[in-house]
Parts: sequence; structure tokens; C-alpha cells
Amino acid sequence: MAKRVAVWWIRHDLRLHDNPALHRAMELGEVVLPLFAWAGGVDNGAAVDSSPESDSAGGLALAIGGATQWWLSESLESLRSSLEAAGSRLYVLQGTITDALDNVSENFDVAAVVGEKRFEPSSEACEDSVADWCQRCGIDFELTAANNLAEPGSVRSDSGNPMRVFTPFWRRVRSAYDPGEPLAEPDEIPGFDRWKEIGQIDPGAIAPAHPWTEKLGNCWEPGEPAAHEILNRFYEKAGDYGEMRDCPADDGSSRLSPYLHFGEISVRAVWCALSDRDDTEPFLRQLAWRDFAHHLLGCFPDTLDTPMVSSFEGFPWKDDEGHRTAWLRGKTGYPIVDAGMRELWETGWMHNRVRMIVASFLTKHLLLPWRVGADWFEDTLVDADLANNTLGWQWVAGCGADAAPYFLIFNPILQGKKFDKEGRYVRRWVPELADLPDKFLHEPWSAPGDVLEEAGVTLGEDYPHPIIEHAEGRKRALEAYETTKS
Ligand code: FAD
Repeated sequence: MAKRVAVWWIRHDLRLHDNPALHRAMELGEVVLPLFAWAGGVDNGAAVDSSPESDSAGGLALAIGGATQWWLSESLESLRSSLEAAGSRLYVLQGTITDALDNVSENFDVAAVVGEKRFEPSSEACEDSVADWCQRCGIDFELTAANNLAEPGSVRSDSGNPMRVFTPFWRRVRSAYDPGEPLAEPDEIPGFDRWKEIGQIDPGAIAPAHPWTEKLGNCWEPGEPAAHEILNRFYEKAGDYGEMRDCPADDGSSRLSPYLHFGEISVRAVWCALSDRDDTEPFLRQLAWRDFAHHLLGCFPDTLDTPMVSSFEGFPWKDDEGHRTAWLRGKTGYPIVDAGMRELWETGWMHNRVRMIVASFLTKHLLLPWRVGADWFEDTLVDADLANNTLGWQWVAGCGADAAPYFLIFNPILQGKKFDKEGRYVRRWVPELADLPDKFLHEPWSAPGDVLEEAGVTLGEDYPHPIIEHAEGRKRALEAYETTKS
């Protein structure tokens, strides 16, 4: 007799440890069939050249961001190995999840589908389509929630409205969160002696063929085992996080963001590993910003492209192509901004402090629409996350929930001097300025001619003049922000 199959619908939970959807599938089926449906194309980045050096810079034009697409394919490879070691098998099928379920149910006796609940604006429709499919076929359907400290949308004020301010949100989450014990990784996942081939695609086929993604492999190792190694390494230095997290030259933050984004490690596992100490509160608080972002996007889905603060709807943005390209290419003439944009291009990641500086420069000094920056980040960050990215950009632009006040315009010179005092970050990513003395590193235009000459820098040739003068950019931004007051 055919064995009753429970499909584990894999979404952003690419892990075996602490995975409630997998555990529930193991309870419901005699066999668990791990299924990932890929609705994008294969190798669809091949024809696009959007490197900062290219004239068409502006987007890798992939179904999801190019960097996250690369990460996903690597992570699926890693999951496939872990599943095989546990006696199971990963099915990656091309098409929508309901196409994939049609295929699976023609070949197996499917009794149940279990997946992780998501909160992004498009997720509900997708989940509804699976629920309808299951109902039509008489198959059980369950969603589990394990991606957050608090289910997005569940943290409400006393009057029942969604929280919009982080600190009270954090207080509630901190006092209410009761993680319990993370679920153990199963040694064995029930499977078949012989698995059928049903037209699976190789996970590698979903990686973009764009040559840019090749360099990401030198910087990152996607997958669940690497996520746990990174957490273990971070454990040793987590006590210094509060002091070190703002210095981009130091490895002071966890770098767990892409692993958390793809659910290669659960947020509960991270919390439980660190919350039994009394020196990790600053880190736990920061982890809750991720929850806050997911909560806001779940409650206010329109904020993906409209400002949370409605007075910003008519904001006089200036979409200047030349400024936009200079920003993307790391050629604004402000060393800390350029270092950040180049770090992003070279590694698929940027330090949080520098994300704030480059975002402030784009939206305030250049008055470019925040979506321009958010789109580039979505394409190039390995941790690109709709919720976190939207919150980050709206926060900096001053139009989001609990946002930075509009008059907070980061001075890129002072930010550089404060957070990259010895210039190690700038020297690494903007090597043409490496020989400038510290004093002038964050404002090379102020160096006397002989100092520039000695450092081998000719401004306008080796390194650009500032594309906008700081005082002028600040004045323009303040004038533009006046329009949001009426
Ligand atoms: P740590 O400092 O070690 O923090 C641990 C975890 O907490 C992070 O991995 C992340 O999951 C979460 N976290 C920390 N800070 C924030 C924050 N401010 N908002 C939301 N979650 C946070 N983060 C993303 O994961 N994806 C994005 O697409 C993204 N875009 C951003 C865009 C802008 C303009 C800004 C200012 C911030 C953005 N962030 C984004 C938030 C933050 O910069 C990154 O989460 C952080 O730099 C990741 O590095 P880490 O893992 O070492 O963080």
C-alpha cells in the first residue's frame, strides 16, 4: 500500500534544527516529502550587465534580488545534503507551489501539506491558493509560525492598534516572549526506500548566471551548518556588541542577517543561545528590530512603496541620473559613503552604521527617492529582506514609523571621523585614498596640494570631487523637508 505522504512546504525555513513545520509533517505523514517550488526562471540573470561600471547600472532585473537568488540556490544545496544525511530527499520543482503540488499528488499519496506562515504582502494570497488546493483535494493543510519573536501584527497598544514605536514594542516583546526549548534536529526523517524522479530541477540552476554573484562565494558560506558556526563564533564576542557594533572596520556585529532571512537558523535558537547571559541585552534588542520591521510590514503592507507618514507623499524628490549613478558606483567624493557602496558591491553586505550613512546621503543630500536606494539594496544585499529594508530606508528618510527626525542629516565627514577614526574601513574599500593622513581621509578635498601629491591623489582623476557640497546638500534637504510640515 502507498505510504501517506506529508509535504513539508519549504519557504524561508531552510533548516532541520528547530523547525516546527518539519516536525509537524513528521507527525502527520508516514513519509515526509520536502518540497521547494521555484516560480522564477533559471539562469535568468545571464543577459544583464548592471555592474556599477556598466552604463545600464540600476538593477539585476531578477525575480528576487540577484544576491539573494544566489544565496537561495547555495542554501538549497546545503539543505539537500543535510536531508540526504537524514535519509530524506529534497524536491525542487519549477513553477508555483500549486503547480508543484499537482505534480507531487499525481505521483504520491499526499495526506497533508505543512508550511511556515509568512507575513509579506504577497504571502497571504499564496497561502490561500494552497489552502484552496488542499481543500479541493481533501488534504490537510497547516501553517506553523516560527520566524519571529512575536507573530507580526500581534503586538498591539492598549487601545488595540498596531504598535508604531519601537521602544514600547520592544518592552512588550521582551516581557512576553517565552521561547521554550528549540526543537531538536531529527536524526532521521521518514522517507522511501526508492524515491521517484518527478522532474526536479537542480538547486544550482536557480542561481543567476550573472558573473557578479561569483564573488559572493568568496565572502559567504550559505546554509544551516555555517549559520550555527557563525552563532558560536559570535557567542564569544557578544558581550562587546554594544561597544563594537558601530565600528564598520571591526567585526563587531553577528553577520547573521542572511541566515535569519532564509531561516537557516531560527530566531528562537539565536535568542536562546544568547539570552542566558547578562551582557547581551543590546544584541537582543537589536534582534527585535527585525521583529518590529516584520510587524510593520504585516500591518501596513502599502509601506513597501508609500511612506508611512502621509505628509511625505508629495515630497519634492529629485531623481538625478548622474547623482544616482555616482552613488551606486561609490563615486560620490565622500569616502565613507563610497566605501560602503563598494563594500556592498564586493561582498553583498554593508555594515549597519554605513547603511544609515549611505541612505541618509541618498535621500537627504541628493534628494533621490528612498525607493531608488531600497531597490539597489534589494538587488545586491545577500540579506535583502522586504521588511527590514523598507523599515531601514523609511526610517532614514524620515517618513517611516518611529523614524529618524527629518532634520537628522548625517554629516558624512563627521560620521567617518567618529566611526572610522583610524580610517581602516575607508582605506580597505577606497584604496586610492590609502596614503592620505587620517586627518584628511574623510575630507580629501581639504588636504593641501602637497599632501595630496605625496599620497598620490589627484582629485577629479584618482578620486572624485564631492558631487554636492555638504552644507549645500543639508540646506536643500531642510528646505525640501519643510514641505512635509504643512
Ligand atoms: P546584528 O547587529 O548582529 O543584528 C542581529 C540581527 O538583528 C540582524 O542579523 C538582523 O536580523 C536584526 N537587525 C539588526 N538591526 C536591524 C535593523 N535596524 N532592522 C531590522 N533588523 C535588524 N537588514 C536586513 O536583514 N535586510 C535588509 O534588507 C536590510 N536593509 C537595511 C537598509 C537600511 C537603509 C538600513 C539602515 C538597515 C537595513 N537593515 C537590513 C538592518 C541592518 O542594517 C542589518 O540587519 C544588519 O546590518 C545585519 O548585520 P548583522 O547580522 O551583523 O546584524
